[in-house]
Amino acid sequence: MFPDYDEPLFRPPCEAGSLIIQATLGCPHNACSFCAMYKTKRFRARDTEEVKADLRRARLMYSHVPSIFLADGNTVAMNSEKLAEIISYARRLFPEAERISSYGGARFLKGKSPEALRRLRESGLDIIYFGLESGDDEILKRVNKGVTSAEMVEAARKVKEAGIRLSVYVLLGLGGIERWEQHALNTARALNLMRPHFIRPRTLYPVPGTPLWEEMERGEFIEADGITVMRELRLLLENLDAEGAVFLSDHISNYIPVHGLLNRDREKMLASVDMALSRPEEFLGPRYLTQL
Ligand code: SF4
Repeated sequence: MFPDYDEPLFRPPCEAGSLIIQATLGCPHNACSFCAMYKTKRFRARDTEEVKADLRRARLMYSHVPSIFLADGNTVAMNSEKLAEIISYARRLFPEAERISSYGGARFLKGKSPEALRRLRESGLDIIYFGLESGDDEILKRVNKGVTSAEMVEAARKVKEAGIRLSVYVLLGLGGIERWEQHALNTARALNLMRPHFIRPRTLYPVPGTPLWEEMERGEFIEADGITVMRELRLLLENLDAEGAVFLSDHISNYIPVHGLLNRDREKMLASVDMALSRPEEFLGPRYLTQL
């Protein structure tokens, strides 16, 4: 949607129609064993005036911008005052935009004061897309997420208390064949404590060149098959008590779409999972993804 990006560029699927502006480049963690997203970049916050110039250029190009996503990974890691300045500027230039959002992980949110988060909210930040991946500490350690489940919950609460909507990613299959039950149960427990506005499952799709891929090659990690992933999803849904959270599997990596409002639509979502489990050859075969 906008030229001159520092590629590669990622955004959540639900931000496909948004104006994407890079406030930062890369990911300051860049160490999760399953992730290949920003391996070619070194993290840095872009100069605030450069980002504002991009916003002005976009204003000249687009008469209507429905929403704005501030890339790259973990944009919240940048200085909160500078980020708030960029967001306020974007708000003034694009009054029609319904939301401004960014990625933000617990490792970088936990160091933010409640005042800094409130300042981001007041400047106009509406949603943070937050990678929980798993609520199981052993898995989090194994994949080098850099934070514990308790730190994730604490960071998520701070975001919500600041009035920023929280969209949490869960990575189905991350426990492999061995640890799918602990993954499901501890992830449900963490989500129940977080009570996010959105829960967005994705399914692990190992990428060559990542440490996780190498673990698979050495036989140290055995990927969960489609049936195991569905049983894991079933167990997760059975144990979720996150009233009001929208459950949305809006990602190409997932075997089946499962959408609903918690806790109201739990049975309907479980029925979708059971349908896939009853016809595995139709729904749970190998995935050939060209784009993640
Ligand atoms: S924090 Fe997110 S973007 Fe960064 S390495 Fe981990 S999964 Fe990838």
